[in-house]
Amino acid sequence: MFSLFRLVITYSIALLFVACQRAAPDEKNTRSFGDLALKNYRPQSVYNTPKANLTKPFASVIDMHSHPYANSEQEMDDWVATMDELGILKTVLLTYQTGSAFDSLVKVYGKYPDRFELWCGFDYTGYTEEGWAERAISELERCKVVGAKGIGELGDKGLGLLYSKPTPGKGLHINDPRIQPLLARAGQLGMPINIHVAEPYWMYLPTDSTNDGMMNAKTWKIDLSKKGILDHQELINSLDEAVGNNPGTTFIACHFANCSYNLEIIGDLLDRHDNLYADISARYAETAPIPRYMSAFYTKYQDRLLYGTDMGMDKSMYLTTVRILESEDEHFYETDLFNYHWPLNGFGLDTTILKKLYRTNAERLTASLNASGSK
Ligand SMILES: [Zn+2]
Repeated sequence: MFSLFRLVITYSIALLFVACQRAAPDEKNTRSFGDLALKNYRPQSVYNTPKANLTKPFASVIDMHSHPYANSEQEMDDWVATMDELGILKTVLLTYQTGSAFDSLVKVYGKYPDRFELWCGFDYTGYTEEGWAERAISELERCKVVGAKGIGELGDKGLGLLYSKPTPGKGLHINDPRIQPLLARAGQLGMPINIHVAEPYWMYLPTDSTNDGMMNAKTWKIDLSKKGILDHQELINSLDEAVGNNPGTTFIACHFANCSYNLEIIGDLLDRHDNLYADISARYAETAPIPRYMSAFYTKYQDRLLYGTDMGMDKSMYLTTVRILESEDEHFYETDLFNYHWPLNGFGLDTTILKKLYRTNAERLTASLNASGSK
């Protein structure tokens, strides 16, 4: 009897031990879930859905938004080889530069005069002084003679035009009366202006557990408490005014004017201004979560949108943009390229729209400038 009792006790302890052993992995998973930082979240899609596996764009391409990324002649040669492989006819390099820095880039990329097109900046040096506009215009005219085909990327994230080199135009916004002579002259010269205003809307929202685009929202956060800073809508208004006041100048609002969260805003600007285009560069991740809406948007504005990348020169980068525009792939991740943790989806755009987006809208824009400009 005693030994039977001992046996039951021993058996119960053994069962308890086994139960504890079984519980351990769950406990461990719960712990690692609790410790997992959002920035380390790298989900992998488990869906066995069809994948297009596209190896190049459907049609030939003009990339309207890139930068002089190559750090050596070899890198430039490799870039051209990638462009050849993918059918990218030409890449527009938005240099931000003026003066001798611009001239050096013209010389470097002059090895491939048909493959790279260089755009210059505005020289804001001395913009608070008398006579600045005339000086900046003569530098613009000089850059055009050297080879600049357009101007950009200008950029204003709220505190003024910050992108051109060598001097930022602190507190100078695109609708500032001081810059109007330059905008008008750009139109006369047949030079379009690529401009970045504001930032994606997540960057204006609190970086807390409710922020939909947290990782990038944190990196690119806009601090609206800074003195004199314009908010998202005020920046859109500054662009609206500048484009409206200069009907003879062509503007390209890059990154959908940072209105991915509400494309009706850029749609409204495009509806009201014939001299405005939008480029789609570097906003693939921001738009791929809403594929049906995007497909309708591309359909409606198919004559006013320009393909661009703005994300380096890797083949895989180009192919990701192609996958998003052309395929109907669903729920895939590109966390390393885009940093967001969202699953992405292809828009499945039709071939007529793709041809315009990839090439013919850019060609039409250039042709209209050649016809009107160059005085
Ligand atoms: Zn850019």
